[in-house]
Order: sequence, then structure tokens, then C-alpha cells
Amino acid sequence: MIIVMEQNATKEQMDRVTKYIKDHGMKSYVHKGDLLNVIAVIGNEININPENIAALDGVNTVKKIQEPYKLVSRITHPEDTVITFPNGVKIGGDEKPVLMVGPCSVEKDYEGLIKVARAAKEMGCPFLRGGAFKPRTSPYDFQGLEEKGLQYLAQAREETGLLVVTEVMDTMDISLLCKYADVLQVGARNMQNFKLLKALGRINKPVMIKRGPAATIKEFLLAAEYVVSNGNPNVILCERGVKSFDSQFSRNVLDIAAVPIIRKVSHLPIIVDPSHGTGKRYLIEPMGKAALIAGAHGLMFEVHHDPDNAMCDGAQSLNIEQFKQVTRVFNKLIGRIDYDNKNNKNNKKND
Ligand code: PEP
Ligand code: MN
Repeated sequence: MIIVMEQNATKEQMDRVTKYIKDHGMKSYVHKGDLLNVIAVIGNEININPENIAALDGVNTVKKIQEPYKLVSRITHPEDTVITFPNGVKIGGDEKPVLMVGPCSVEKDYEGLIKVARAAKEMGCPFLRGGAFKPRTSPYDFQGLEEKGLQYLAQAREETGLLVVTEVMDTMDISLLCKYADVLQVGARNMQNFKLLKALGRINKPVMIKRGPAATIKEFLLAAEYVVSNGNPNVILCERGVKSFDSQFSRNVLDIAAVPIIRKVSHLPIIVDPSHGTGKRYLIEPMGKAALIAGAHGLMFEVHHDPDNAMCDGAQSLNIEQFKQVTRVFNKLIGRIDYDNKNNKNNKKND
């Protein structure tokens, strides 16, 4: 249930409404917008009569929302969430799409990682990605360098100023990861690890959730709802493809339509990962372009200094030269999109 307050509602009136909700055994989340203040009611709505709330002073309207995700929905929070990092980089809303690049996993050759990081910086990518804790299908595959890998990422950040995105697999590792990472990534396989999601709701670093290989958009949004409802509003969604019947030509089916759909129903930033989405390096450029045109707030893809010898996901990683070439194409397109956005805004003003 969403309660939209009158534009001139007083603080006392808001407090009276939130107390009423609490007295009926439910939680309220207040969203103070530029124009209107909105209160989302979370809990079993059977306990409460919307007509009684509508009659309270200062209440404009009471809307029942059918979707189970409430806090990540645009109904509760009409403005886009824009996440601002301490170095000024922003993601979300009308901000310029950002690129997150790096190897699938951080490997023991630091020189390789720093080569990628330097190239990323040169090309204007603000984020360096790389897994130190790796979720591998086989227990015999490389599992990641763990803390050593995090130290390498932090060292690369020290030299280049790039922000670090890295995966968290277990609640036990959260405090360690918070020491090193700027964004904690929840991998596709952990999208419904509810204990992990709840714990990530209690940290003050942005969290990026990747779509589960068989998750619906609703389940994807509910995963984000877990983090936001536990207190962390800074969530980035990442579409990375879903499993389907045809894996002959691509590893997954990259759901580009998820981008405008999520932008329509949610205020959270949504980025796209064409590496995991396709499993093929030649598909990074065309699918990345498609994602940007569809409105993605960023792209994440894999870049390795020597993909033929990568410890994981080499086939979907670009080498440094290919990365520069593809990124020139992305940057050009991003410039155009930016121009078009500005144009649209000017047109709106002229309506
Ligand atoms: C990754 O980003 O390296 C990764 C393991 O991705 P996913 O969880 O989407 O498979
Ligand atoms: Mn990978």
C-alpha cells in the first residue's frame, strides 16, 4: 500500500500516519520527494483498512499496489536512484552510462591486472571488475585468490583511481570485502541467497545484483527489495542473460528488453553484462551497443591481458587491443546518447 501525502502535509500529520501504521503491526518507509512525500506500507495489509488511512489528516490518496516489490518500485519512489561514489562517479538516472571492465577472476599475475586497469583508465572506464571469490560450477576449477586478490584490486585502485567491483559469495566475507571493494557484486547463482541479501542491506556500500540464470524479472526485483528493505538503498541491477533451450551459439539469452522494462517499473540503475550474457567475445560489441540504445546505465564486460590463457571465461573476454577498439565504439555511442537525451529534454521544454 502506498500513501501519498498532501503537498502541504505537516510533519505532525506524517508522524500520525506512520504511528497508525506501526500500531497496526506494519512498517512504514517514508520517501521524501521533490514534490510529494510518499509512505510505503510494508507488511500484511489484511490488518489495515485503506479507507481509515485515507481519512487521516494530510493524506491525499491511498493506493493498493499489487506488485510484491514495493521499495524498488517507481510507485513508491518516482525519481531515479542515482548512486554517487566518493570520487564523484555517478550511476543511474540520466547520468552518462558507465563501463565496468576487468578479468573474470583476479589471477596471481598482478602485472596482467594492472595492464588492464591502466587501459581502462586510459579509455575513461571508471570501474575495474574482477573476482577474488569465484563461484565455479566445478569444485575442481580455480576458486579465486581470496584476500590476495582483493589486495591486488586495491593496489590497482591505488595506482589508477578506478573503483573496484568484486563478488561476495558468503555473509562471512562481507566485512573483509567492505575493506577493499567499492561495489559488492552478488553473482547470478546467489541472486536468491536471502541471508546474503539481507546482510548486504545492512552495509553502507553499493551492491550490484546479477540476474539469476533462471530468474524472472519479478524475482530479480524482489532480490533487490531484500537489500533495500533491510536498509541499503544503493542497489545496481545487472542483466546477464538467462538460460534457455538454445545454447549452441550463445551461453545464455541476453534479455535486452529487461532494460526498458526495469527502467519503467523500478527507479534503480540497471546495467548489462554482454560477456556472461553471450559467452562470446565477438558478441560483446553488438550486444553492448544494443543495451546502451535500450537505456542501460552501464555495461560490465570481461577484459583480460591474455584471454587465451585466462583461468576462467577467456572466450568471453576481450584482449587489451580489442577492448580499446570496442570501447571507442561504446564511448562514441554514449556521447550520442547523451546528446540525444539533452535534445529530448530541450524538446520537452519546448512542448
Ligand atoms: C562474474 O561476473 O564473473 C560472474 C561470475 O558472473 P555471473 O554471476 O553472472 O555468472
Ligand atoms: Mn566470468
